[in-house]
Amino acid sequence: MSKVAFKNISFKYGQNQILKDFSLEIEAGEILCLVGPSGCGKTTLVRCLLGLNKPDTGEIYVDDTCIFSATRRVNMPVERRNIGIVFQDYAVWPHMTVSENVGYSLKKRRVPKDQMARRVADALAQVNMTEYANHLPSQLSGGQQQRVAIARALVGNGEIIVMDEPITNLDAKLREQMLTEIREIQRRSGTTVLYITHDQQSALQLCDRMAIMEPGGNLCQLGTDEDIILHPANRFTFEFIGVSNFIPVEVKGGAITLKPGSRDFPWAEGRLPEGADATKPLEVGVRPNDIVFDKDSPLRVTVNRSVFLGSEYDYFVDLGGRELRVQQNTLDAAKYGVVKEGAETGIRLLNYRFYPPKEVQA
Ligand code: ADP
Ligand code: MG
Repeated sequence: MSKVAFKNISFKYGQNQILKDFSLEIEAGEILCLVGPSGCGKTTLVRCLLGLNKPDTGEIYVDDTCIFSATRRVNMPVERRNIGIVFQDYAVWPHMTVSENVGYSLKKRRVPKDQMARRVADALAQVNMTEYANHLPSQLSGGQQQRVAIARALVGNGEIIVMDEPITNLDAKLREQMLTEIREIQRRSGTTVLYITHDQQSALQLCDRMAIMEPGGNLCQLGTDEDIILHPANRFTFEFIGVSNFIPVEVKGGAITLKPGSRDFPWAEGRLPEGADATKPLEVGVRPNDIVFDKDSPLRVTVNRSVFLGSEYDYFVDLGGRELRVQQNTLDAAKYGVVKEGAETGIRLLNYRFYPPKEVQA
């Protein structure tokens, strides 16, 4: 296992600046998920690591080896970087058997036959595909093909594997199963994994640490999933990871008014954090599970919809013309009662943060 460091990487497609001074370190032996919306530059970064894109600035290190440096003119060729890659479209070769697919890169590197056979067998065993060694890809399911692609990435004995949206093309159940398998394969092999996804849910399930990338290619937070959920660095992270509600507020002489839309609500319980700048427009952000029903609260809502999700109830409520999501776990539902669709009641916000309103995209 190796660590990887991106230092101040900038990259343009034509005039289009995709990455600017992007820095990120991946620890040896961890699964780091790089999560960000489509088009923010994730694949562009992967291509820089593989040697398929040449950055304009910055350096890339694998352990202490500099594989790229713009100023020192280092640019290790693609085939020498020995980084395993699994892409979204499995890209296994249809005319080769499973073993041939997995062994292809070794054959190209003229690894002796007996050694090659052993390494292919090892890699197939890692992904539980030994019995399919002589099958053609057309005889395999999507999940099995993707396991072949993972075996192919493992076989190079690369200390690093990059997976760029590897399960996006699989159905929901298989995605779930593949995530568990990827985790197990990673544990067994000890390989460092950079896992790329636009899907926060799979990142939460899989990662040791998560890096959040904003539109525009900036890294806005790096931390454990717990850090990121409990201490989001900014509005983008708060909104991107997990479900969130936002309500515009007005602050006058220390008193806060919620202005959801058609009606204002004085919010006596609301507190601005110390040092907050109340002269600028603000919104309060609150997670659905940080809102509780309280029939005596002055924040009046109508329950539009209530959905039972097995472990919780998911409500869609209207507060003065704005729809909010409220979640109540089954224990609370049993204790305080399930709120019926159409009911009029009150809510209280238990835990919340203030953010500037979302910038209007030009
Ligand atoms: P992500 O993987 O996060 O979805 P990409 O790295 O693929 O995003 O793309 C980032 C931006 O670069 C997008 O705006 C995309 O349209 C643009 N882009 C990607 N590949 C090319 C290319 N080969 N030529 C020009 N622009 C590209
Ligand atoms: Mg991509």
